[in-house]
Amino acid sequence: MAQNKTVLLTGASGYIAKHIVLNLLNAGYDVVGSVRTLSRGDEVRAAVAPHVNDGVDLDKSLRFVALDLGKDDGWDDAMQGIDMLMHTASPFPLKQPRDENELIRPAVDGTLRALRAAHRAGIKRVVLTSSFAAVMKASLPKGRAIFDESDWSDPNSPTIDAYAKSKTLAERAAWDFVRDEAPDMALTTINPVMVLGPPLDVHFGGSVQVVERMLSGKDPMVPNYGLGCVDVRDVAQMHVRALSAPATHGKRILAVDSFLWFMELTAILKKQFPKRRIATRQAPDFLIRLMGMFDAAIRQIIPDLGKRFDVSNARAREMLNMEFIPAERSLQETAAYLVENKLV
Ligand code: NAP
Repeated sequence: MAQNKTVLLTGASGYIAKHIVLNLLNAGYDVVGSVRTLSRGDEVRAAVAPHVNDGVDLDKSLRFVALDLGKDDGWDDAMQGIDMLMHTASPFPLKQPRDENELIRPAVDGTLRALRAAHRAGIKRVVLTSSFAAVMKASLPKGRAIFDESDWSDPNSPTIDAYAKSKTLAERAAWDFVRDEAPDMALTTINPVMVLGPPLDVHFGGSVQVVERMLSGKDPMVPNYGLGCVDVRDVAQMHVRALSAPATHGKRILAVDSFLWFMELTAILKKQFPKRRIATRQAPDFLIRLMGMFDAAIRQIIPDLGKRFDVSNARAREMLNMEFIPAERSLQETAAYLVENKLV
């Protein structure tokens, strides 16, 4: 147990980060969470408060600082008294912007800002939230059908979207920084596939909105598309376990339970909520291409229609002793949260 170690967690207001805050506190760490505006700190505190272990004194163990990925202000001050950095903040929109730099600049510049400030403050341990998006736009070597940590998205691929490019370039920038300017910094990246699982409060972003959209009945049919899924509680656990696992220094670690087609996701939801209008018929690819002309969220999946992305979790199991929550359960618990809280 790492008593008294203090972790600076960037983007503490995020869906995944709130779970990380909770896990850090319950593992005995003190947490300084960065938010863009300090008032969001109260939201994070309220989200974790019902779940912290007895004995965790939130007044002592959790405080907040205001930091923006696009501004230099405050970073050096924020690193004072910090033992370890966990960098999760990065723009994660459901729809891709017209100008890819709206995502790339904060992702890359923000990562470098965080790492440089940590390095100046003498912080030697960093865990970075990257993504399967930094892995999946790669061509697998002949004879291998499963993605692993050796695969890297090609940022110049003609089918890469702005988000995947932002995550690829940000992770590359982090590894390059450590290699060239901070060789004594121990970096680990956690690369999750699509993250599901109940949020800690109603302020959640990106991936939960996929389930929200399926439950909303908005779409008449389901695209021939799928992604690996992983539970948010496992992703948080991996971040925290990595902090005290020297074997993970210098390593990328994929976070994944299993791949599910969207048809499988909607079938699970329909079984869970038979009375709800949930699309269960598969849309022909030409229709999705047509809908993509009007819907930016649909447009970004077009290059990957019909592609199966199987992903190895061998490293996570071996180095972090992970046993993953089954994707079906994550999905059902996400849906139950949304329905119980009348969010759909
Ligand atoms: P999220 O809820 O949207 O969290 C993103 C966080 O980044 C928020 O705290 C957000 O702050 C912060 N942020 C964005 N732009 C910022 C800026 N310019 N300055 C400061 N902070 C900024 O999404 P999430 O799913 O938890 O994602 C967290 C991390 O996991 C991201 O790095 C994402 O790429 C990665 N990831 C997510 C998934 C997934 O399926 N959810 C999968 C793989 C990787 P505000 O609250 O102020 O907007």
